Amino acid sequence: MTLTPEAETVLKARYLRENETPDDMFWRVANHVASAETSYGHDAVSAAREYYEIMSGMIFLPNSPTLINAGKLKAQLAACFVLPVEDSLAGIFETLKHTALIHQSGGGTGFSFSRLRPQGDKVGITGGVSSGPLSFMHIYDMATQVVKQGAARRGANMAVLRVDHPDIVSFITAKQRPDVLNNFNLSVGISDVFMEAVKNQGDFDLINPRNGKTSKTMPAKEIFDLLVKMAWENGEPGLFFLDTVNKANPTPGLGVFESPNPCSEQPLLPYESCVLGSINLTKMVTGNGRDRRLDRGKLARVVRTAVRFLDNVIDVNCYPLPEVAAATRLTRKIGLGIMGLAELFILLDMPYASQQAVDLTADIMKLVTAEARAVSAELGCQRGNFPAFTDSIYAQQGYSHMRNATVTTIAPTGTISMIANCSSGIEPLFGLAMTRRVLDGRLITSINQVAVDYLKNQGLLNQEIYDQVAASGSVANMALPDKVKKVLATAHEIEPAWHVAHLAAAQKYTDNGVSKTVNLPKDAVPQDVADVFWSAYSKGCKGVTVYRDTSRDQQVLTHGISS
Ligand code: ADP
Repeated sequence: MTLTPEAETVLKARYLRENETPDDMFWRVANHVASAETSYGHDAVSAAREYYEIMSGMIFLPNSPTLINAGKLKAQLAACFVLPVEDSLAGIFETLKHTALIHQSGGGTGFSFSRLRPQGDKVGITGGVSSGPLSFMHIYDMATQVVKQGAARRGANMAVLRVDHPDIVSFITAKQRPDVLNNFNLSVGISDVFMEAVKNQGDFDLINPRNGKTSKTMPAKEIFDLLVKMAWENGEPGLFFLDTVNKANPTPGLGVFESPNPCSEQPLLPYESCVLGSINLTKMVTGNGRDRRLDRGKLARVVRTAVRFLDNVIDVNCYPLPEVAAATRLTRKIGLGIMGLAELFILLDMPYASQQAVDLTADIMKLVTAEARAVSAELGCQRGNFPAFTDSIYAQQGYSHMRNATVTTIAPTGTISMIANCSSGIEPLFGLAMTRRVLDGRLITSINQVAVDYLKNQGLLNQEIYDQVAASGSVANMALPDKVKKVLATAHEIEPAWHVAHLAAAQKYTDNGVSKTVNLPKDAVPQDVADVFWSAYSKGCKGVTVYRDTSRDQQVLTHGISS
């Protein structure tokens, strides 16, 4: 197994135990997860070997908490959680306690604060007034900062507020103040009624969740324009399309989706958790030169192993709360996804910004979801359906078996793609050379090897070109053939419409959500952001986040190499 220096640094800092090698780590994870097989009368040893092979081969990696915690006593292995926030002081602080416990175990939490009565509203017992959702979000943020998750992760949250909540304007503008809510991503919960009102330039009612009464009426467009302006300024809030998400709810009888997890890719019912895992597509290529193509057979085989792996995680996982254990076991949701997509395109000599690439994105997820569902149906037959199956859309659609209420999710793969040395999720390359600010602010630099090899194979690589790529992280301004520039175009050089096209293509064949940032160039105008929002909405995306180059002071990723 060869690891890049970046991967070694990340693993040493947070993932490896004392005296543990990366190889030991993969065996630790493989053995723990495979131990579930014995309760079904299967051989755990051969399963462990299969798991070890796909992980150490960097073909598939589970989400970070599985890599970090497997093998430990009371190991918590899932990355994503959603908790309910009730409109009572006891409820708010009970959920805060639960949040602290989940963060301590390495998970991220999402919440909707929409049930809380607005700021200034009546509080029954004391005759006082409520301080509103925003004030409680600040408390959650501070608690997250303090918990810091031991040695694992710092803690990450998602806050959703429905667009018809009376405090929506303060929510949309909350991050205008610097240095607040740093441990939160914010998304506005958008309804179809709202989008319709924006389109018709109509008025829109803000409703007090305590009594269902209209507390204020505003032009819908005013709210939308503010949202666009804030997102244009600093990338937040994102949008979370509530009606679209709930139309895809596999178990509507169990409740309604109010919020996704922190990076937005996983809508969950209150108290559900989900374990994610991602297949590295750069390892799914066969043939040489012009004959290079996606190895569909291999991809399908890896999906089979990965689904069993993730389903086993649900059995061996030690849940941080009894409510989470119960809700998770009822639906047994798993989220298998992909990473390395942008590099797959380069390997196949295909520009990210092309219809051919968009079609391939759809095709890959279609294959992954179909195969994953087939495995889940087999597992359902052998090991039992997820307990809520009879009330699910699968039963209504005539399926007899399904082990998992959802099978696919596309995660950001922020850390695991670094470990696997591939591009993250379905994102284009951010730069051909880049400096990443990782963990506690340290900088790590690297030049993309797939891009370098591409230039070499095209007979275009020399020292001068190499140095220029290293310095600028881009080939856009270099004297190279047009096709080469297109294949190696980076995130901000790719038209926003192509970003949305990939997001929508992936979403079409993904059960849960898709993590994707729509990058915009520095000189983009607010109308460009509005266009992205509308097209994501109309193409059936579950959510959307934009980021305009350099609009945030401290970007996580920057172009080129700096020392
Ligand atoms: P990784 O690559 O480390 O497995 P991802 O970047 O794919 O993680 O993120 C997947 C999910 O993991 C996120 O949506 C979130 O729920 C959770 N997560 C990510 N980073 C953190 C963090 N620092 N603290 C807690 N949870 C996190």
